[in-house]
Amino acid sequence: MSRWSRDAQTQQFAEAVRDFAAQHHSPEAPPTREAWRAAGELGLTGLQIPEEFGGSDAASYRIVATAVSELATISHGLSSTFTVSCDIATAYLVRYGNTETKQRWLPALAAGEAIAALALTEPGAGSDLAALTTRATAVDNGWSLTGTKTFITNGSIADVVVVAARTSDQHRGRGVSLFAVDTSLQGVSRHALVTAGHSDCDTGELAFHEVILDNSSLLGVLDEGLFHLLERLPQERLTSSVANLAQARDALELTLQFAKSREAFGSTIGSLQHNAFRLAEVDAQLAAVEALVDRCIDDLDANVMSSADGARAKLLSARVENAILDLGYQLHGGSAFLADAPIHRRWVDGRITRVWAGADEVMLHLIAQDLGLHP
Ligand SMILES: Cc1cc2nc3c(=O)[nH]c(=O)nc-3n(C[C@H](O)[C@H](O)[C@H](O)COP(=O)(O)OP(=O)(O)OC[C@H]3O[C@@H](n4cnc5c(N)ncnc54)[C@H](O)[C@@H]3O)c2cc1C
Repeated sequence: MSRWSRDAQTQQFAEAVRDFAAQHHSPEAPPTREAWRAAGELGLTGLQIPEEFGGSDAASYRIVATAVSELATISHGLSSTFTVSCDIATAYLVRYGNTETKQRWLPALAAGEAIAALALTEPGAGSDLAALTTRATAVDNGWSLTGTKTFITNGSIADVVVVAARTSDQHRGRGVSLFAVDTSLQGVSRHALVTAGHSDCDTGELAFHEVILDNSSLLGVLDEGLFHLLERLPQERLTSSVANLAQARDALELTLQFAKSREAFGSTIGSLQHNAFRLAEVDAQLAAVEALVDRCIDDLDANVMSSADGARAKLLSARVENAILDLGYQLHGGSAFLADAPIHRRWVDGRITRVWAGADEVMLHLIAQDLGLHP
């Protein structure tokens, strides 16, 4: 049971998400459209969408965290495909879309009939977002969009992509705007990337060549896109943290089970003091990060979560997850090297958590700034 589900209603929802995953998850392919529609019926895809557009507008982020945790316990890829669409990209349409855009996309997203993505990263700009070169140029009644986005979760399957593009050269930090881009428009081409893990999640590259967008595609204020992103990033990092912790807890349990049964030198390998202490240490670290994330969830619900706390949670959850995965791999011995070993898959899938959604170094930068330092 997810640690974030505290009342009977949330526990019931957690169970329903688990049943959904058992029925629809394939480790080797992204969820089918049928699975997305089933997620819509369950209410998973509409948690952040207002009721007037077909969602349930969850009263507490704890409900979202419960869903993320249940999906991430199964795999990072599964939680990633759903959270990027339903939690991360959809939030920009809800918060910054005009009425036309909301009516166009939100009911379909809530029903699981449409999939969303968020496209910030480019071949030449990842951590340094202000360096992006995708450009939207004003034309009669709209915009012409040209550029390339890469490493985009759901990139080759999404129906709508929230794209960050430069709209003015006035200043590095200003002059970027967000657009809702319909991927069926002329001038959009894309393909899936072959990745080392996350075989149950699409990661794609998109190219936009003079794609004509109407004025209603603009999300929020012209040239203020980076500020809109900064506003949403703490919640995105919290969502990443919840997923990291679910995988960390699961990997620890998997490792404990193995360490309590595998014998060497007249004892179980978990009872050899060196291993017992290392397991105890990561268990204590995990409990501490869970407490931090728990506090962040309360703060987010109270609208007081800071960007630095989002960075602390993202940094530490990814680090503790990777520490557990590395120890788990080690204690599983040669059997960890088998491609279908659960610990192997988690280890391959987990490494990217220290890079995506803001690399460790970017998190450290934010925390240092919060301490009044200017690295
Ligand atoms: C599976 C996957 C899914 C993704 N999904 C999405 C998505 O849906 N949407 C999207 O827009 N992007 C997505 N990304 C992109 C991801 O967010 C970027 O890969 C990440 O932000 C890092 O950018 P980069 O790869 O360009 O690395 P770079 O920015 O080139 O950085 C490379 C490395 O340099 C170091 N570094 C960076 N900045 C600093 C610093 N200030 N100080 C010290 N060292 C530093 C870090 O170690 C970093 O890992 C995804 C990536 C992957 C792999």
